[in-house]
Parts: sequence; C-alpha cells; structure tokens
Amino acid sequence: MQTDKNKPQTWRPFKPSLCRSCYATCCTMPLEVRLEDLVTMGLVSKEDLAEETNKKKIHRIVKHLQKEGIVKTYRSSTGLFLMNSQPNGDCQFLDGQRHCLIYSKRPQVCRQFPESMGLKLGHCPYQRK
Ligand code: SF4
Ligand code: SF4
Repeated sequence: MQTDKNKPQTWRPFKPSLCRSCYATCCTMPLEVRLEDLVTMGLVSKEDLAEETNKKKIHRIVKHLQKEGIVKTYRSSTGLFLMNSQPNGDCQFLDGQRHCLIYSKRPQVCRQFPESMGLKLGHCPYQRK
C-alpha cells in the first residue's frame, strides 16, 4: 500500500535500511526546531544561545533568520522555529539527490524521527525514489 505523509495510518514500520531507497518523504514535512538546534546547524552563535531567555534577542534572531529566508515563523509559547521550505515543499537543506546537506549538523527532530519523534512512533511515510 502507498503511504501518505498526511495520513499516519498508512505509514509503514521503520527500518534504517529503508532510507537508502526512499524519496526522503520525512524531509518534505514541516520542520520545527529549537534555538539549540539552530546553534547546532550553525545558524545562530553559542553566545545567542546563552541569552535564550532574552526576548528582545530572540526577536532579533527571528527577524534576521526571516530576512535570510531561513525561518518562516517563531512561536514563543513553544519555543519552536518553523523553517522555510523549498517551493516544492522539500526541506531547504535537501539536495537534488535527496540527501541532507547538513546531515552531521541536523536538528534533534531529524535525529529522533521516527523512533521517538513523529506522528506515529516507529513508523514513517516511506516512498520509493
Ligand atoms: S521517510 Fe522513513 S524511510 Fe524515508 S528517509 Fe525518512 S525515515 Fe527514512
Ligand atoms: S535538516 Fe536534513 S534531515 Fe532534517 S528535514 Fe532537512 S534535509 Fe531532512
């Protein structure tokens, strides 16, 4: 059965070997990250992380990353930054071969999906390339 990324009931049990032949469907879903992730990703300096509670500073970071086209929105209630996507919906860090350009610096949510993050733990929207 074909999986649909918007219908977790269609997702299939995850095995790491699946990723080799997959379209990287997980990298076409909305990506939300924390300030710590932005530091890991090299988009925000460690000094900015140290001043995480400073609301003015967060506002300045958000404005800067929005101007650069990296961040779409920020929700202060959750501390989550919604990252911008490419026009086709792919993550901005996904290349033409469907590989992550920042794999060693990828955010926690990407490291934990789908075993401890996602809409259906241990399952994912695998689609053959
Ligand atoms: S959707 Fe699943 S199989 Fe495909 S790349 Fe993501 S984790 Fe791997
Ligand atoms: S950062 Fe990398 S692993 Fe995470 S969604 Fe984007 S391309 Fe995929």
